[in-house]
Amino acid sequence: MKKLIIANWKMNMTSVDVVPFLEEIFPSVEASNADIVIAPSFPLLSVVRGQLEKPLMLGAQDVSAFSKGAYTGDVAAEQLVDMRVKFAIVGHSERRAQHNETNALCNEKMLRALEAGITPVYCIGESAEEKKNGETLAVVKKQLKEGLKNIDTSKVIVAYEPVWAIGTGVTPTAEEIETTHAAIRKIVGAHARILYGGSANEKNAAEILHITNVDGLLVGSASLNSHKFASIIQTV
Ligand code: PEP
Repeated sequence: MKKLIIANWKMNMTSVDVVPFLEEIFPSVEASNADIVIAPSFPLLSVVRGQLEKPLMLGAQDVSAFSKGAYTGDVAAEQLVDMRVKFAIVGHSERRAQHNETNALCNEKMLRALEAGITPVYCIGESAEEKKNGETLAVVKKQLKEGLKNIDTSKVIVAYEPVWAIGTGVTPTAEEIETTHAAIRKIVGAHARILYGGSANEKNAAEILHITNVDGLLVGSASLNSHKFASIIQTV
């Protein structure tokens, strides 16, 4: 399966930053065997879209659970398609924590995305407390069962992102990632890509990408630095 590297810029960057950043990573993107996706904030989608002659694809960091209408502040899947968005991150742990997003809401968002032809990137993962209690696999299985209800699992991407690994510089061991990804694989089947996310960087990318059932990376902090992100791309 072709590897997939997604840059989750979160609420960073402004329009002046985008073009220089993309110019800097472009040689690595061109030389890479991976699919590369940039997921900027909504206002920057059109700026990145202007650069899509490069072999890059565009992702959104969220998508509305509703198709259209009186939902102030929401962005509909159809509007994302209009921006040439191909992927939408759903259920990132920051949205689950800061906006109380549930597995059921994520399910609605993924259904809207799929109806519009956008591939959802469904983020799952356990908290530090849940890990300490040995609940990792149970948590992940519940998130998959509830989030992927009525969804053809071959049509989604799953990103395993342990909450305690996001932005902390700490990652699970290779064995831990392998065990969790194997459990996810059993549920989503052979055709879904399973990404790892959580403090992936230019130093650990190669090792993580070699783990069985790791089909790519979702990268936060290290995707904001063009040199670091280019190094990650170069490992594929
Ligand atoms: C993320 O938030 O999706 C993420 C992977 O962040 P970081 O790489 O900074 O841990």
